[in-house]
Amino acid sequence: MKLASTLQSLRTDNSFAALPDAFYSRVSPQPLDDPWLVHANPEAAALIGLAPEALATPEFLSVFSGASPLPGGSPLAAVYSGHQFGVWAGQLGDGRALLLGEAAGPDGSWELQLKGSGLTPYSRMGDGKAVLRSSVREYLASEAMHGLGIPTTRALALIASDDPVIRETVETAAIVTRMSPSFVRFGSFEHWASRERPDLLRILADYVIDRFYPDCRPAPAGVADTDAGPYLRLLAAVTRKTAALMADWQAVGFCHGVMNTDNMSILGLTLDYGPYGFMDGFDAHHVCNHSDTAGRYAWDAQPAVGHWNLYRLAGALMPLVQDEDALRAVLAGYEGAFLAAFHDRMAAKLGLAQWQAGDEELLNGLWSVMHQNRADFTLSFRRLAAVASAGDTPPAPGIETFEDLYADREAARAWLATYRARLAQDGRADAERAAAMNRVNPLYVLRNHLAELAIRAAKERDSGEIDRLMRLLRDPYTERPGHESYARVPPDWAGALQVSCSS
Ligand code: AMP
Ligand code: MG
Repeated sequence: MKLASTLQSLRTDNSFAALPDAFYSRVSPQPLDDPWLVHANPEAAALIGLAPEALATPEFLSVFSGASPLPGGSPLAAVYSGHQFGVWAGQLGDGRALLLGEAAGPDGSWELQLKGSGLTPYSRMGDGKAVLRSSVREYLASEAMHGLGIPTTRALALIASDDPVIRETVETAAIVTRMSPSFVRFGSFEHWASRERPDLLRILADYVIDRFYPDCRPAPAGVADTDAGPYLRLLAAVTRKTAALMADWQAVGFCHGVMNTDNMSILGLTLDYGPYGFMDGFDAHHVCNHSDTAGRYAWDAQPAVGHWNLYRLAGALMPLVQDEDALRAVLAGYEGAFLAAFHDRMAAKLGLAQWQAGDEELLNGLWSVMHQNRADFTLSFRRLAAVASAGDTPPAPGIETFEDLYADREAARAWLATYRARLAQDGRADAERAAAMNRVNPLYVLRNHLAELAIRAAKERDSGEIDRLMRLLRDPYTERPGHESYARVPPDWAGALQVSCSS
């Protein structure tokens, strides 16, 4: 496929806009004043068939700062509802996001969405804007997650201006262009169930099935189908994807921060990056969102919250399925799906050929010693690759070891002894195991302080740090000389950083 050098030549396709009017409001973006392109992402551009040179054009800046329409697009804000922090919140919707349209690329269609493009009918008390700080964080995080192989929405462009935006202090405005095959959320389903509109609920469910889950339409061979069949199979598919996503998050120490049902993608993607965090020192109960005072979305709570959110989705599907037991039976598959995915990932992270019955104890021992020492999450796993299975050989001079991350070195060594015994059982060659582990345990993650340094530079109109992080995080497994500071535990000043819902 030849890449398009202008937005005029994008192949647009507006399937969501073809749904009935009730699903959205048509709104035009409110453009940024005097915008500047902070960064654009050629990898995301390629997904919609756009050539890198298109990213530097005035047309690109104009469209993705909200000043001119996407050729062939049809801008709209979608309506949805949701449960926030465990409580039914009623109608929410795209309060500051606008779907510009869909563009077809070599491997499928992507919706292009501006975030921070002004008021919509769903803005409630908000101003429809996004600040540069949170936009840099969303832009970097979506690409960092992709680099880790974790399903996520993508980011095409980050554009900023000096327009003032009032949060705790006066900040400045920015717009991130996000891309996803779909931005439909669990809350999109909850919306029509709560409005007692089974007709619209069915249209939405059929749209999602036909476009994204076509395998859910027919019954498996030899199984008699019912009208409810496709919707039950949809729930089963979303359950599996959500379980796998939770396993992915846990395995890299990622905390989403706001796992409300309106932030849960029906495609099982990481969606809506706000006060998220990659853990530095491991605390099993880590809460990354300063606004989450009850710790509802702590790291160790995420898998159960995923299940709770699926219950809300199942409840919303009740008018189509009308069989509570059948819905419950599907949801009962969540725990097994999560554990299977999680054990797979953890076996790979520990360098085990396969997860075995006793490995839960080995892993719990590691969590426990990491937690007690607040040992760095990313580096603890990364340094396991260098552990020699045969015995406690002294490290080469200058090489930092696993134990170096632990104030209580004896506790770390005691766990390593059980780990070595387990490795010996597998009998894999150390070099081969180390190479495999280094392909699954990242060296670089988007630590809060790294994002903060990129934000500070961007505020001074310097995008260099964003560019460096994008390159590094695109392949976070390969050690790059000259980037040692990106692979270190955070400096002392980072301890004071706080992220909250303010964005
Ligand atoms: P979030 O917690 O970011 O997922 O947002 C929850 C809801 O609040 C969504 O409906 C958002 O569109 C809306 N929202 C968040 N911030 C703003 C804002 N500054 N202006 C308008 N709506 C907002
Ligand atoms: Mg949201």
